[in-house]
Amino acid sequence: MILPVRRLTAVCVLGAALVGCGGTERPQPRPARPGPSAVDPRAPTLAQGPEGLTPVFTNGPRTQGRTVALTFDADMTADQGPRAAAGERFDNPSLIATLRSLQVPATVFMTGRWAEEYPIQARSIGRDPLFEVANHSYSHYAFTPDCYGLPTVAEDRMRADVERAYAAFRRAGVPDPKPYFRFPGGCYDRRALRALGGAGLTAVQWDVVSGDAFATDADAVARDVLDGVRPGSVVVLHCTRSAAPTTERAVRVIVPELRRQGYRFVKVSELIGAAHAAQPHTDTALRP
Ligand SMILES: [Zn+2]
Repeated sequence: MILPVRRLTAVCVLGAALVGCGGTERPQPRPARPGPSAVDPRAPTLAQGPEGLTPVFTNGPRTQGRTVALTFDADMTADQGPRAAAGERFDNPSLIATLRSLQVPATVFMTGRWAEEYPIQARSIGRDPLFEVANHSYSHYAFTPDCYGLPTVAEDRMRADVERAYAAFRRAGVPDPKPYFRFPGGCYDRRALRALGGAGLTAVQWDVVSGDAFATDADAVARDVLDGVRPGSVVVLHCTRSAAPTTERAVRVIVPELRRQGYRFVKVSELIGAAHAAQPHTDTALRP
């Protein structure tokens, strides 16, 4: 991915702040999908890459109209439970309420730990047709050895960590989460893509970084997004109030302006569907 260093640092800082303990479940056998009833079987996915690598989606087609997908990472790690108990808010209900009132479809990349902490919100988001829930790992551990200081998931536990998040969604009552996976910190390599291969997952990156992690200036976040969005863009933002306190205000600026420019907000699944239909003539590509 091509990102300015400053923006990468913001993602890094958020990632580093969201370090938690890893999964304790044993690796699961590999079904064709991450579990027969775990994910929405109708969700479009990209074709598996060569050598069984998980395909990676970065953005939708650039020439099929002005669509843009806002994505919100709901980060939380196991060691943050005491902080949540002490009153720190890793959720952002007012952001979700704003997306609803503005009628903005969105994709929420949820950690399993977040769904456990906020099961009512997870279920509410999952049951709202305006939104779709995708997988951001259980524990927000990194899937590469060197990812902004995050602890790493061992290769033979990667699959189990993803499964554990889907299990948490199921327990919270999220129906039909999507078979889309966002690597914590956005970090991946061929080893990680191979470890998750054959699961029917599509890894979802982004082409626009909002810089909302620990931002204090909502207008600056909005500007970064508005400067970066092109047709088919995927924007990464966060649904974690304590670590991304300006996101809701930024969304209130971003949404009307992009609509004024003729953009239509869509979920990631729509962009993947469009890319799938257009394969291989799209910007999507395996990025080892
Ligand atoms: Zn994250």
